[in-house]
Order: sequence, then structure tokens, then C-alpha cells
Amino acid sequence: MTTNWIDFKALRAKLDFEQVLRHYGVIIGRKGDQHHGFCPLPNHNGKKNSPSFSANLKRGIFQCFGCGAKGNVIEFAALMENVSLANGTDFRALALRLQEKFCPELGASPPKPGKPAEPTQKPENPAAEKLPDEIPAIINAPLDFELKGLDPSHPYLTSRGFTPETIAYFGLGFCSRGYHKDRVAIPLHGHDGKLIGYAGRVVDDSKIAGDNPRYRLPGERKRDGKVFEFRKTLFLYNGWRMKVALDDLIVVEGFTGVWWLHQNSLPNVVGTMGADCSERQGEIIVSLVKPSGHVWMIPDGDPAGERFAESLLRQVSPHRFVRWVRLNENQQPTDLSGEQLTTCFKM
Ligand SMILES: [Zn+2]
Repeated sequence: MTTNWIDFKALRAKLDFEQVLRHYGVIIGRKGDQHHGFCPLPNHNGKKNSPSFSANLKRGIFQCFGCGAKGNVIEFAALMENVSLANGTDFRALALRLQEKFCPELGASPPKPGKPAEPTQKPENPAAEKLPDEIPAIINAPLDFELKGLDPSHPYLTSRGFTPETIAYFGLGFCSRGYHKDRVAIPLHGHDGKLIGYAGRVVDDSKIAGDNPRYRLPGERKRDGKVFEFRKTLFLYNGWRMKVALDDLIVVEGFTGVWWLHQNSLPNVVGTMGADCSERQGEIIVSLVKPSGHVWMIPDGDPAGERFAESLLRQVSPHRFVRWVRLNENQQPTDLSGEQLTTCFKM
């Protein structure tokens, strides 16, 4: 049984910060009780690529040297969900959700007898730790525009053996201007099928550099005083097309693997867009597969692929059967012929 009762102090003490961090897609880099890593906060406005974020997992507090944010585990969740710390009602509703998810036993304890219930108990002085530049960021919201004039016949795509049908199916095309100039634009859809952004793949690998990564993910957008941000760890590429729970789902790391398997008659394939399967992605994978079904992972044959496999096993194997299709060293799913793929996935 759960009630509306909430004791912030007890909740703070009970919440496992590591579990909460994982819930929000943070990959834990642990040293003793400390986690260090990139700042996951949507409002983070410092350097993106330096590990400025640290959390004391035991004490349930965090701090970011980049954006200056700091606070406790509940406030961390509030920042991740764009719940204003100054709004007592919303903050309390969030705390209640955390309680129900992570420590429901707390919700069952009634207020102490002889003491009046305090149903609107305020968070502990939320204004004291108010953050600088608090702009509400919105994560993975639908885009209000579409890229026009993408060239689907670019050699990057055709020379890799992708057919016009596959290119059209995934809406791919070379982009000659804007944020994804000189890249193949890859539309990304949220789980409701709405376009939420574009990734861009460099077409000339010799131009890949520190400031020109192979893949560029959607950047932060500002519109009408709001900040929109894209989080790849919170969804799966091509996941929106899986409408019912499946008997078999294939998970690959990258975009090209998804296109290639689809083209080779394996349409139930999703991509994590990186060498780690986040906790949220793990949850989505589990939700897409029947309890009796199988998750097939086909990591690249390199150390990053191993890491991907390990993170996916950690998230998914407690809940679903996972099969690991092992490729040879330096092999990728796109190196396999349709025939070889069919042999791998004897479903
Ligand atoms: Zn930060």
C-alpha cells in the first residue's frame, strides 16, 4: 500500500544515489563512495567533455564544477526532470514518485500518532541551493522543423551497399548546409514516432577530428525562453517501430548496423547509439521483448563492443534471455552478408 505520506529526511536517507543515477542513464564511474563523470544535468552549461560532475554515493550529495549545481539526491532528480526546486507542490510530487519507485515501503508508514500529519511538508530550504541560470530544459521534445533537400543518393550511403529503399525508409540524406553540413543526416524519432532531432555522420572520414566527431548528435536549442536538449541515453534508435512485445529483438551499437540488418530482412533491430547501454535503454529493451523472448546483441568486434555487451548484459540479462553474437576482431555487423546474418540469428 502506498499513501501520500512523505518524509523527506527518511527518503533522502533511504534512496540509493547510485540506483537513482543509473535510473537517469548515468554510467557510474566509481572510486570508493565517489562517482566522477560528465555532468548529466540538462541545464549543465559548462564544458561538456570534462568530468566535472561528482557525487558522494554514500552521503547522497552531488556537485558539478562546470555548472555549479549541487544538492542532494532528491534535488538531483528534480534537476534531471526539470522540476523547479522552488515549486513545493511539483517537488513533492517528484519525491513521491521517487519513493514509489525506489523505496515504496516508506510510503506505507503512517504519520506518527499524536503528531498531526504534515501533508505539505516543504523540501529542506530549497532556495538555499538555488542554481545559477536556471533555465528549464526540455529533453527529447518533438522538433518543430524538418530538414529539407537532403540528398539520398550521396555516395557515402550508396557505396556502402544501402539500397534506395533502405535510405528512404530511414529518411537518410546528405546535408549541404547548417548544423549537419557535409554530413549524412539521420532522423531520430522518440518512442511515439515523433521526430526529435537529427544525428549527422561525417562523409569524409579523413576530416574526423576532436572538434569534428564522426557522429554529431542534436545540439541544444533555445526557443521562446526554453532550452531543448537531446539525450541519446534515454531512447533507442529505431525503437519506435517496435509496436508490440517481440519474441526476438536485435540490439546493435550504431546506426549503420540497424540499416544493414533491416535491409537484410531483420527488421526488429534497434541501436543504442554508443558503446554503452544505459539503464533507461535497458528498461526499454526489456519492455520491447516478451518475457519468454530473446534479446540478441551483436556488438562490434572491438573493446568498445565488449563494453557495450557487458553494459547490456548488466541491464537486461536479469530480465530477459540475452544472446551474444560474437564477431571476429574488428568486424562490424555491416561486414556480414545477408546469408551470414541469417546464420547468426537462427531464431
Ligand atoms: Zn554541470
